[in-house]
Amino acid sequence: MATRIFMKERPNIYLALVHYPIKNKRGEEVTTSVTNLDIHDIARTCKTYGLKRYFIVTPIEKQKELLSRILGHWESDKGSIYNPDRSDALSIVQGVDNINQAIETITSKEGVSPLVAATAAQMPDPSGKEIDLINRAILDKRPILLLFGTGWGLTATILERAHYRLFPLEGLSDEGYNHLSVRSAVAIYCDRLGQGL
Ligand code: SAM
Repeated sequence: MATRIFMKERPNIYLALVHYPIKNKRGEEVTTSVTNLDIHDIARTCKTYGLKRYFIVTPIEKQKELLSRILGHWESDKGSIYNPDRSDALSIVQGVDNINQAIETITSKEGVSPLVAATAAQMPDPSGKEIDLINRAILDKRPILLLFGTGWGLTATILERAHYRLFPLEGLSDEGYNHLSVRSAVAIYCDRLGQGL
């Protein structure tokens, strides 16, 4: 069984919610829409667990404008006075055109590229659990970029290209049901990564 190597060391963790490339119901590659709920709820989780940045990945101009409008409102005096906690959480949100742009942003900030770790309810060829990922990041002295899907999940190409494929969250369903909302999946992984379990 894997054990945490250095409890006091903690890699910097970043998260990306991917809206492209994503699978639709028929397995085709599509772009999904940004949602208000995902922006706010995942930002709060990321902020609570000390993640360094929450990237929202969409190449669509109109979607990027929508994201900027939402972030702009909460950055403004009106938004930040009305609900400072929400405004604080949203300060770590950043829109990017693609996953590579998130990787480049992290690399220029950290001086080293992140270990990219993908998540899926059904994961082909999983690499390990949360503790194994933390240990590898500590040994490699690299930050982590967690990828989460929308729609029907991340495409096979994104899963194959990731350095790390986390084991799915299995839950306790007798029927093997484990299709969580992305917001729940983010919260559970953040908690597990935070505890080094
Ligand atoms: N429309 C859905 C929603 O409202 O959240 C989006 C579904 S999307 C496929 C859910 C994403 O959450 C997946 O791509 C994956 O990143 C993550 N996820 C959901 N269930 C999971 C599980 N059991 N194990 C690991 N990741 C999971």
